[in-house]
Amino acid sequence: MSALSAEPSTQPKLAIVVPCYNEEAVLEITAGVLLEKLNALIAKGIITEQSHVLFVDDGSRDNTWRLIEQLHEQEPNTFHGVKLAHNKGHQNALFAGLMTAREAKVDCAVSMDADLQDDPNAIDKMLEEYKQGAQIVYGVRDNRETDTAFKRGTAHAFYKLMSAMGTETIPDHADFRLMSLCALDALSQYREVNLFLRGIVPSLGFKTAKVFYKRGTRAAGESKYPLKKMISFALDGITSFSKKPLSIITGMGMASVIIGIVMFIYTLVSVFSGHSVAGWGSIMCSIWILGGMLLTSLGVVGTYIGKIYEEVKDRPRYILEKKI
Ligand code: UDP
Ligand code: MG
Repeated sequence: MSALSAEPSTQPKLAIVVPCYNEEAVLEITAGVLLEKLNALIAKGIITEQSHVLFVDDGSRDNTWRLIEQLHEQEPNTFHGVKLAHNKGHQNALFAGLMTAREAKVDCAVSMDADLQDDPNAIDKMLEEYKQGAQIVYGVRDNRETDTAFKRGTAHAFYKLMSAMGTETIPDHADFRLMSLCALDALSQYREVNLFLRGIVPSLGFKTAKVFYKRGTRAAGESKYPLKKMISFALDGITSFSKKPLSIITGMGMASVIIGIVMFIYTLVSVFSGHSVAGWGSIMCSIWILGGMLLTSLGVVGTYIGKIYEEVKDRPRYILEKKI
């Protein structure tokens, strides 16, 4: 069951959720910046003193967890941590962190990368939007100069492809966003293993807002998203949301059958007009018609599998926002 949306808290309890995979090079710098940010927000009375940073160690192989333990010892109220037993990828680590924050009954959670590419100063504006009633606030970068031309190009192609496939994503928004407790409750109903949060979160509904920020370069350490991971992330995004590839196959199959039939008619005409080539018609027609029928049946079978996939994901049919 999901909790219904309540009035936004005037002084919310905030959790900043930071997934970390082999981030020993940058963790202390990030922790310092976030500590300062939280203290400033608390001092201004914008958030409660119970607000904290939650680091999620995504099965790191380096000293990341040791550093998180040290940070917790130094500032037990500010730095909390959870450690995943295996490396399960950014999306799962983020989900684990958001669900931990939900259990801690925060009023809202902001997710951000460990490398300070997401600007912590944008959190102030996110909180303002939250207080004005937004349940989800997207951090949208208004520059991409810090990315390589390749990353920029592939990212834009990806957003285009996603929208062509019928999935709503927010262009130039990575996973830097604020979610209220009510949005977290809704998210917790998504039990699927192939998580693609950038597609799920916009599909939740609710009142949303955008906050623009300048995305910086990584403060230290290396990117954990090599090309291979980026491609599998993009494929996950498409296959977790869209059944369009199946209808494309079915369409191609039908087109092939039609081409086969046209060839058949052409063959008949040439036989009757007396300039047929022996064997051409029978071979070409059977290839195109049979091939087309095979493709169409594959698409039909695929459509059924697509339906099974939808059922297995067990997504909520609807999410209640208010009740009177
Ligand atoms: N990350 C993670 N698990 C992984 C890979 C990455 O938790 O398997 C975290 C990583 O520590 C960082 C965030 O996801 O906080 C984004 O990764 P990164 O900055 O390397 O990606 P990029 O910004 O280069 O796309
Ligand atoms: Mg990064």
